[in-house]
Amino acid sequence: MEPLKATEGSPQKGKDVKSRLTELRGRLREIHDLQAAAALLGWDQRTYMPPGGAGARAQQIGTLQRLAHEKFTDPAIGRLLDELRPYEESLPYDSDDASLIRVTRRDYERAIRIPPAFKDEFDGNAAITYQVWTRARAEDDFAAVQPYLEKTLELSRQYAAFFPEAEHLIDPLIAIVDEGITGAYLTQLFAELQASLIPMVRAIVGQPEPDDSCLHQHFPADRQLAFGLQVIRRIGYDLDRGREDLSEHPITTTIALDDVRITTRVRENYLPGALFGSLHEAGHAIYEQNIRKELEGTPLGRGATYGVHESQSRLWENLVGRSRAFWEFFYPQLQAVFPDQLGRVPVDTFYRAINRVKPGFFRVEADEVTYSLHCAMRFQLEVDLLDGRVAVRDLPEVWRERFHQTFGFAPTTDRDGVLQEMNWYCGRIGGLYQHFTLGNLMSVLWFEAAAQAHSEIEAEMAHGEFGTLRNWLAQTIHTHGRKFTIPELIDRTVGGPLTSSAYLRYLKRKYGELYGVSFQ
Ligand code: ZN
Repeated sequence: MEPLKATEGSPQKGKDVKSRLTELRGRLREIHDLQAAAALLGWDQRTYMPPGGAGARAQQIGTLQRLAHEKFTDPAIGRLLDELRPYEESLPYDSDDASLIRVTRRDYERAIRIPPAFKDEFDGNAAITYQVWTRARAEDDFAAVQPYLEKTLELSRQYAAFFPEAEHLIDPLIAIVDEGITGAYLTQLFAELQASLIPMVRAIVGQPEPDDSCLHQHFPADRQLAFGLQVIRRIGYDLDRGREDLSEHPITTTIALDDVRITTRVRENYLPGALFGSLHEAGHAIYEQNIRKELEGTPLGRGATYGVHESQSRLWENLVGRSRAFWEFFYPQLQAVFPDQLGRVPVDTFYRAINRVKPGFFRVEADEVTYSLHCAMRFQLEVDLLDGRVAVRDLPEVWRERFHQTFGFAPTTDRDGVLQEMNWYCGRIGGLYQHFTLGNLMSVLWFEAAAQAHSEIEAEMAHGEFGTLRNWLAQTIHTHGRKFTIPELIDRTVGGPLTSSAYLRYLKRKYGELYGVSFQ
């Protein structure tokens, strides 16, 4: 292919740029379609596939992902990106074409740093470690998975070493999911959060515990699901372009921007699980459903980063779904669905129950106040493991020590400790926890920015109307897809760097009121 320079200024220039863009988009579309097919196979794997299909399915998904990776690391992509650089530089930074070329180049340059043989070893280790972990957790046997986790740590370090320009080993691992965020920034952020949140939790647990027995009754699954579906439709999850099914772990899967599916799980003896799980996943799905169609089939046609994605799920789950205004509207409806269980429970009792702060062993069950403390501990362990300050064999003990430092008690089994969740056992250590906390921070920032721009949002929520809020999010965040990094999005929406102050202010106000405590 002719280099762009040779035709610069000639009447051919426009045509060359156009044909190169068309070629790039065509190649990216094929890769996208392979990934979408793999996503659909993955959705089926979690929902309807009979257990016997597991082996063949893993193989099929692996083949599609390998083909997508081969197509994406084809040197022809690199050539096209080089040739399109002058065109990119002639455009505004936030234009569709400049963003497409910039973001694709970033992905491409990251992908080609990783030698294929290393990728095979990395993926192979991930698959076997996950399998060993499921057994190890069931049997509370950390020693069984320890050598695999040691290998995972070694491979994570090797991965990071392919990016020698990084300041810290964890930076390239974070960049996989949260481009633009560094370990140094997070170290400071988590320390700040701990300094505020640990005293807050201590003050709260010193108060009388709210009665949440109303949530622990028998709630038939079909009625829970029907109510949840009605709620997520009302907040704006488009069921003509989505659907909800059951799976062991709730997930959101994007097959296409007009086909974004969620799953939930139901416990008949505990009401909040399915409801808030559905709200959370619907938040992820509403994000994807509102990305501009023009970006579909390219690396821009999905959520910006994991942290930004999590901000949207948490905004609907917590800022909206655990707010007083939301239940003004929905509580009478919920009482009508469960008259025997909730007919005599006042809305205030219910509101306190769904916002009860109770330190526990499990991150995924944590309330708003303790949640980020679980993430802080895991992030700091990731840094210490990568730096060699903590050895994998000592992890169960160090976990207990640090959990105790944070919460004043500790799990006695590893099943309730270091083995509790799959994340580190899926092939990588580093970059697996920051996005939950970044999401918490941004959920508050953006909810408050929307409420400031449209003072009617709170009153609308109390009437079951969410259009103003949803449209603000769609136009401010969702529409851009993956064009911008977290620092760029924060700068464009609220200005300045992302800090913990709005988030801490929100927690202190809400939980100060709920518990009758005034926090520093
Ligand atoms: Zn999520």
